[in-house]
Amino acid sequence: METTLESHDIASAWIGCLGCHDGGSSGRWYADEGAESVPSRCVRCGSDEFWCLDVESDYFRPEEMSPAEFVERVAFWREVEEHADYMDVVRAYWANESHANIPNDPDEFVSKAQDCFMFVCDGYTDQDIGMAYGDYLDGCGVNSHDLPEPYRHHIDWASMGHDLQIECDVKEYDGSTYVFDYS
Ligand SMILES: [Zn+2]
Repeated sequence: METTLESHDIASAWIGCLGCHDGGSSGRWYADEGAESVPSRCVRCGSDEFWCLDVESDYFRPEEMSPAEFVERVAFWREVEEHADYMDVVRAYWANESHANIPNDPDEFVSKAQDCFMFVCDGYTDQDIGMAYGDYLDGCGVNSHDLPEPYRHHIDWASMGHDLQIECDVKEYDGSTYVFDYS
């Protein structure tokens, strides 16, 4: 099966008729809201049961679902995209959260993700995270760069990073490390 997922799409689904036993020829790929145009009845067997048998998405879990649910999830993510200032933060949050904790309201979901976000860094070691935390604090007005060099030199960034890994929620997503504070 060849998918039709384009870079601007939220998702694509191969929607087939459950009434036809050789489902391969009684379905096709639909992208995003296009899935709303699934026929109400199968022209081959007359069944009205259609199902997303294959789903491609970088946004939500690619599992089987009804066409109605597919359209609903696409709409949800479309709204999330409109509300989010930092889409990568929202997606890092989503990629690591259990499904059960995700609010149904896109606006609330975006707020929840962005409110507990602290900072992102490229590295993943204690030292990398500790030093990125230093920059984050600088942004909050606690300016470690103002310290005389001998003091700054002796800051134990790795130890700070280590503590953050325990106290905060540190998530790896798309090659970067995202740090969230749920407290
Ligand atoms: Zn059919």
